[in-house]
Amino acid sequence: MLALEDTIVAISTPIGEGGIGIVRLSGPQARTILQSVFWPARTSRAAPASLEFESHRFYYGHVLDRESNVVVDEVLAVLMCGPRTYTRQDVAEIHCHGGIVPLRRTLELLLRCGARLAQPGEFTLRAFLNGRVDLAQAEAVLDIVQAKTELSLRVAMEQLGGRISGQVQQIRGRLLEALAHLEASLDFPEDEIPALDIAALLSEAREKIDALLAQADWGLVYRQGVRTAIVGRPNVGKSSLLNALLRTSRAIVTPIPGTTRDTLEETLNLGGIPICLVDTAGITESDGLIEKLGIERSWQALQRADLILLVIDGSEPLQAQDWAIADAARNRSVIVVVNKLDLPAAAEADAILSEVRHVHLSALTGEKLNVLEEAIVETIFSGQVQTSDVPVISNPRHSEILRRALLHVTAAQSSCEALGAADLVAVDLTSAVAALGEITGETVGEDVLETIFRSFCVGK
Ligand code: GDP
Repeated sequence: MLALEDTIVAISTPIGEGGIGIVRLSGPQARTILQSVFWPARTSRAAPASLEFESHRFYYGHVLDRESNVVVDEVLAVLMCGPRTYTRQDVAEIHCHGGIVPLRRTLELLLRCGARLAQPGEFTLRAFLNGRVDLAQAEAVLDIVQAKTELSLRVAMEQLGGRISGQVQQIRGRLLEALAHLEASLDFPEDEIPALDIAALLSEAREKIDALLAQADWGLVYRQGVRTAIVGRPNVGKSSLLNALLRTSRAIVTPIPGTTRDTLEETLNLGGIPICLVDTAGITESDGLIEKLGIERSWQALQRADLILLVIDGSEPLQAQDWAIADAARNRSVIVVVNKLDLPAAAEADAILSEVRHVHLSALTGEKLNVLEEAIVETIFSGQVQTSDVPVISNPRHSEILRRALLHVTAAQSSCEALGAADLVAVDLTSAVAALGEITGETVGEDVLETIFRSFCVGK
């Protein structure tokens, strides 16, 4: 996958019917391959001219299979010469009609002409390898594609713009400065090395890493959403609540692939926070095998949820099942939804999980639904300072690295306090510097790169 001399090709638009579909090439052969399939308009088909493409200019014509003399599609073609391209290599795009047949046939023809099918994320990998973006920026490209709300998009856009990289580089630069100083004083103990307050430098670095990490959980919320499980015994109104929330949130509803009939997942947008709702088809005891499987999944959904909405029927006395489910949700982040506010209340609903927040509402009429929406947002942000600024760190890979770097800096600080341990400080500083380099990709292994880029779609 790291072979840059191959010319790669992929269909870069989603599969399905659309106005146009784009086939993209990148690599040293992009120009010649494009020339060999493109038949410019107003030229003879018997002897199609080999067009000298001007860079970054669209040409109208056809894709022609010269072997069989068959016209594949009517297209617009553009050649963009490196380095002013996404990958910094020569990139060609053929804008076909957006059906699967013309796209597939164009792709096959390009493969026959010497291109190789691109691996997922390979275009962006090339942008990274050729130094157009660093690793954090490349990861942002994936986040932009997958952004669930406008705020998730903003976080990703700032990452693409180099916000993380800039801040991490700054910390790393200061640590490198300290390291250089230490090494100089170790190597040339006789010489006059200008004084540098290593201790102050270390505590400054630590503060900066701490500040980045403080917002990381919040950043994760924007990127990945909050897994919210709706639980409760049958007929309390879980499905009604799910539907009501989806309706009012004006959500971009994205059904998540791999969901089964017994747990349904949808993402809704509450004030910019992606809420991934899991409807758990009623957690109850049952004898039927299929239902049993469903119930098992419900328990799992409950275990994996960041937030639990425990629904009870406020118009009926509490039942043993309500208490059993409440027990499973105890000590978790949970909101009790007392549903069916439009019916006469049975009045004892507050007894259940009395220590957590209760919201009385009607999923049927929508009354007080907004109170639940506000409660969800408040619960997610409880204890966190909300600033108008979006968080810098939103990727678990980055926060894991920062935590590691923090350990090394802390260790360096204690060695620094123990007098005369300059060599130990240098060891810890080296590790901290190496760790921080993994965020931007300066010090990252091929295996890590592969894992990151594999999660991209083909053609990106
Ligand atoms: P689930 O089994 O927990 O998913 O419950 P459903 O959403 O299927 O609802 C069970 C029944 O309760 C349905 O007949 C709903 O119309 C009714 N229901 C749900 N919410 C309300 C409500 O707020 N008020 C009233 N009166 N009925 C409700």
